[in-house]
Amino acid sequence: MRHIQLSERQEKIIQIVTDNQPITSDAIAGRLNLTRATLRPDLAILTMAGILDARPKVGYFVTGKTKLSYVSDTIKDIYVKDVLSVPIVLDEAISLYDAIVFIFLEDISSVYVTNEGFLTGVVSRKDFLRSAIGGTDLHKVPIGVVMTRMPNIIYTTKEENILSAAIKLIEHQIDSIPVVEFIDVDQKRLRVIGRVTKTTITRLFVELGNNL
Ligand code: ADP
Repeated sequence: MRHIQLSERQEKIIQIVTDNQPITSDAIAGRLNLTRATLRPDLAILTMAGILDARPKVGYFVTGKTKLSYVSDTIKDIYVKDVLSVPIVLDEAISLYDAIVFIFLEDISSVYVTNEGFLTGVVSRKDFLRSAIGGTDLHKVPIGVVMTRMPNIIYTTKEENILSAAIKLIEHQIDSIPVVEFIDVDQKRLRVIGRVTKTTITRLFVELGNNL
């Protein structure tokens, strides 16, 4: 992951350029009481980082890149395959009761449901609560009856950018999306190979914050 840590002097240079652009390296050096040679490595770093740019005979100016634009640049290079967690899957025939015990033990809020190894649905806390309130016999009814079913399942793939996977979580107001692999050409059968959850995104957010 890219790590941008600017020195105090580099921050000062950015401020001087912001306030006086375009400004020559001589003039920046003068304001800092330094020689141009001393400043050269800092200017080189800031230019390479894309924060400053220089026009010959005119001087330095800021490109408008902020720390936030570094975050978005960094996110553009992160894919689902870089951050996914292991999938947590149950067979459709499992009873609601056993599935509820399972989500407690695993400390998760939803489970992907499969039949003969292929994704058929997702069952979450709300689905369990709805069944419980409705008086369903939790020991007898299998999760396949109450889950959200294919083709209504929102999923992602290893190659999808993490930002667009996160947008799916927000737009569909769900906590988790399975990461799938297509088994046949018409993409009807999907194998679950991972999961991306709101926790995945929160963890990534913290990691990015710590690297700013
Ligand atoms: P909770 O039940 O804790 O609110 P969610 O917000 O993830 O958890 O789920 C809300 C509803 O959306 C549930 O009915 C669940 O079956 C469904 N759901 C959850 N994940 C998905 C998904 N990836 N694709 C389609 N539906 C989903």
